[in-house]
Amino acid sequence: MYWEENVRRVVPYVAGEQPQNKNVIKLNTNENPYPPAPEVERVLRELNHDTLRKYPDPDVSELVNVLAKRYGINNEQVFVGIGSDDVLAMSFLTFFNSDKPILFPDITYSFYDVWADLYRIPYECQPLDENFCIRKEDYQKENGGIVIANPNAPTGVYETPGFLEEIIKANPNSVVIIDEAYIDFGGESCVPLIDKYENLLVVQTFSKSRALAGMRIGYAMGSKKLIKYLNDVKFSFNSYTMNTVTIKAGAASVANEEYFRQITGKIIETREHTKKRLSELGFIFPDSKTNFIFAAHKSVPAQEIFDALRENEIYVRHWNKPRIENYMRISIGTDEEMKTVLDFLENYLKER
Ligand code: PMP
Repeated sequence: MYWEENVRRVVPYVAGEQPQNKNVIKLNTNENPYPPAPEVERVLRELNHDTLRKYPDPDVSELVNVLAKRYGINNEQVFVGIGSDDVLAMSFLTFFNSDKPILFPDITYSFYDVWADLYRIPYECQPLDENFCIRKEDYQKENGGIVIANPNAPTGVYETPGFLEEIIKANPNSVVIIDEAYIDFGGESCVPLIDKYENLLVVQTFSKSRALAGMRIGYAMGSKKLIKYLNDVKFSFNSYTMNTVTIKAGAASVANEEYFRQITGKIIETREHTKKRLSELGFIFPDSKTNFIFAAHKSVPAQEIFDALRENEIYVRHWNKPRIENYMRISIGTDEEMKTVLDFLENYLKER
């Protein structure tokens, strides 16, 4: 059929499974095992449904204001979107508009190459070293933009702002996006660098550390110029991306800093304990500063362990891709969930 020749064809990103079965211990999409801040529930309970008659605030001012205050930056330095996937997709569309290839690691968030393909942006993957670390000299060549997840996914590997600054400094002619989806689990953010580098965009999300994956809130912080360009594209696409309920719930979440610290602290504690037990069971993994651990067993193939876990209603993530096919990404759940998983692994490895 001729019409099919004009179709924009893409191979879509495959998200982790969302099983209907409530008994599953779900450690496959890096969700937060704790509920969102109690203030979010209050917002939902007290919502006056008549407010839904009207369009939402297209500038998302209420949420932009609280985020700007939280990070000590200007309102004009914050952009909000429907999850960081939306923010990243808008950013690719806005900033990666060159004939030169954009650069990102060979092992990283597997949405980057999908957006690049969708928008016809040329790209060149840069191989991580044998410890899954970035080689900064790979990012010191001509390019049409750079995107780096820090900490990286699915490896969990974290680089310091000082290290990333060398890459940013070496690339004044392209936009550098640092995807900090997992920064709140022990890493130091690059946000303080946005006033120094006009071409630096830092992207974060409410999905992990704020336990609001279902609400879909992401945001970007950068120079006023970058944020203006992003808004120009957003308003050329859809003025009302974020709905009224989400704006209020997001703002309520940011208001409770203490709860945020409490749940992220708890997840870090559980992660450190999980690392210890995984090592004792013969797993190896790069050190993680995220809410997941990317682990391989010294003698048992990942696919076998993945299948055994799945049969027992424990879901983790596994990719049949070069260099990482022997690793599983295990999200950090509650202490109880992790105990069940680790006890299962201990028995499974013993009896196998
Ligand atoms: N960036 C990275 C590195 C991620 O792992 C994820 C989660 N899949 C996202 C961005 C997107 O998260 P969200 O759209 O829920 O904010």
